[in-house]
Amino acid sequence: MKPVRAIISVSNKAGIVPFAKSLHELGVEIISTGGTARLLKENNIPVKEISKLTGFPEIMEGRVKTLHPKVHGGILSKRDNPDHVKTMEELGIERIDMVVVNLYPFKETVKKGSSFEEIIENIDIGGPTMVRAAAKNFKYVAIVTDPADYDKIVEELKGTGEISLKTRFYLAKKAFNLTAHYDAVITEYLFSINEEGKRSTEPPEFRNPLTITFEKVQDLRYGENPHQRAAFYREIFNEEPCVTNAEKIHGAKELSFNNIYDIDGAFNLVLEFDPEKDGIACAIIKHANPCGMALGKTPEEAYEKALKVDPVSAFGGIIAFNANVNEEVANLIVKRFYECIIAPGYSDRALKTLKTKKNLRVLTTNGLKNLESRGENSPFDYRKVVGGMLVQDRDLITVLPEKMKVVTDREPTDKEWKDLLFAFKVVKWVKSNSVVYAKDGIAIGIGVGQTSRVDAAKCAALKAKEMGLDMEGCVLASEAFFPFRDSVDEAAKVGVKAIIQPGGSIRDNEVIEAANEHGMAMVFTGIRHFRH
Ligand code: 5GP
Repeated sequence: MKPVRAIISVSNKAGIVPFAKSLHELGVEIISTGGTARLLKENNIPVKEISKLTGFPEIMEGRVKTLHPKVHGGILSKRDNPDHVKTMEELGIERIDMVVVNLYPFKETVKKGSSFEEIIENIDIGGPTMVRAAAKNFKYVAIVTDPADYDKIVEELKGTGEISLKTRFYLAKKAFNLTAHYDAVITEYLFSINEEGKRSTEPPEFRNPLTITFEKVQDLRYGENPHQRAAFYREIFNEEPCVTNAEKIHGAKELSFNNIYDIDGAFNLVLEFDPEKDGIACAIIKHANPCGMALGKTPEEAYEKALKVDPVSAFGGIIAFNANVNEEVANLIVKRFYECIIAPGYSDRALKTLKTKKNLRVLTTNGLKNLESRGENSPFDYRKVVGGMLVQDRDLITVLPEKMKVVTDREPTDKEWKDLLFAFKVVKWVKSNSVVYAKDGIAIGIGVGQTSRVDAAKCAALKAKEMGLDMEGCVLASEAFFPFRDSVDEAAKVGVKAIIQPGGSIRDNEVIEAANEHGMAMVFTGIRHFRH
């Protein structure tokens, strides 16, 4: 197809002047809407205004510019259909072979915090209509929606004088991808507000069909394994501190699929703790599970305590902090091999030290300022299964002590309470079945991903012993209830003095009785934190 006539109507005007200039030089007639026409004219590119083509002015502040049969007939006609050709002749419709359109910046207008009215005004109507028409008629028309394609098209036109069917099909796919995404973003925004444009206080709907909007951040070298391709996508409106919003400030190597997954686990865990109220948290993660986790008064104290839990597993792990990293802890970190570190920020000296490790990826989430808005724009959690996807609310609940119930004869001591609350927050981020032993703000035993709870308890105790950690007087957290008393009996053997768990088993009485027999305190949270 050799283009004779093109409509150019773009909001993002980047690159449009040289592109239009090339099209003009290649003999293509250019028709344009208000702002675009003005810009091209200023650059001495001959342009016909859309109103000249339609014989109708642009009206209602630009709401109706290109919505006209002369435009859409020109785009949608089949060039080799005699009836279509006849209709065009009778009605004076001229063929349009190329449509260059990008849309009103809806997403950017929302992100800027604009008024509701302005946001609604930025729902493009005429643009997507032309894009869809041109993409449908790719057999005859080229639809150009991405400025990144301008050069390729000029090159092809200069080379062959035509735009090939292959290129037109490629452009059509991109065009429908754009309009599908554009409408999905509008949908997502509308479902997050009420009719006055205020953020909705209602829990979000599980919509049918489900439209969710992500944008690609980057391709990744490979997936979980080298034979799997992979890419990294970001949720459109999510602005909370998380991996997708983190910024890599050092590290020769790109983040890998597994890095990103593990960093997410690490950062979610430390975010459970407020640096002011709870202390500085340090988590060391391997394969999405913590192998070290502790609180300290300083980053170095938290790190040293976390590392003690399992220095063997920590090799090649991911480290996360809930507070800024200082020089002291950076000096300790560079002594060992880690893949990544994530924290709200770094002192200049800490960063200098960390940069001595060429391959260590250093990420910052630029502060924790949006912590209170966790989940606001990202309320769902998605799990892929073959042929479909499971969708659930994110597990963002933190059980407050006043909602918990002491079920044993003995109340936990103040020190035990502190460790119990700490351990229950940690166990939430460990794959099920999981138990965590804790003492003095250190997760001294972390039992991950076992098929029985009693095995998780045994594994964690075994590891703690191997690392030479004193378990006497520690507490135990279980992310789900104990189905039998066996885990409580095991716990007693290793020195556990208090237990925190959801409760709710039909054998709760047996379990409580076991705790009383061993002189333990036991707290029920009423909330379970399975994590698969
Ligand atoms: P311009 O800056 O040229 O005045 O406007 C360009 C924008 O207008 C493009 O983003 C295009 O998608 C959009 N557009 C083109 N035709 C129409 C129309 O008829 N109605 C509306 N609302 N937008 C249009």
